[in-house]
Amino acid sequence: FRRIYLENCVFCLIAEKKLDSQIIYEDDISLAFKDINPVAPFHVLVIPKKHIRSLGDVEDFNLVSHLLYVCNLVAQKEGLTKGYRVVTNVGDDGGQTVFHLHFHVIGGRPMDWPPG
Ligand code: 5GP
Ligand code: ZN
Repeated sequence: FRRIYLENCVFCLIAEKKLDSQIIYEDDISLAFKDINPVAPFHVLVIPKKHIRSLGDVEDFNLVSHLLYVCNLVAQKEGLTKGYRVVTNVGDDGGQTVFHLHFHVIGGRPMDWPPG
């Protein structure tokens, strides 16, 4: 089948293996790889392989359910037994900079709350 793919989208390029990343989990519909600019000792991004702009554009919430399953999977696999945080930024006010849906999985240190 033909995947929806945007040539100017950095995460589409990573999903297509046209851009290098440190992949730590992959299946047919999702990918988890290390963030290039980590904010904590552990910082992984979980994305759908299919291009979706943000959570605000999701139609298939079964896919989101799968992505959250993968977030927990990678956190457990990496031994984040003291906890971790999952974040998705939506749009400009949300602080989104890459407009391909992704969940940040952040851990390895205590987190502050609320965020800035
Ligand atoms: P956002 O601000 O959209 O929620 O998060 C985008 C994240 O993608 C940032 O944490 C940023 O460091 C990461 N990022 C941007 N470009 C690349 C890249 O080319 N490779 C990887 N691995 N991460 C990237
Ligand atoms: Zn994309």
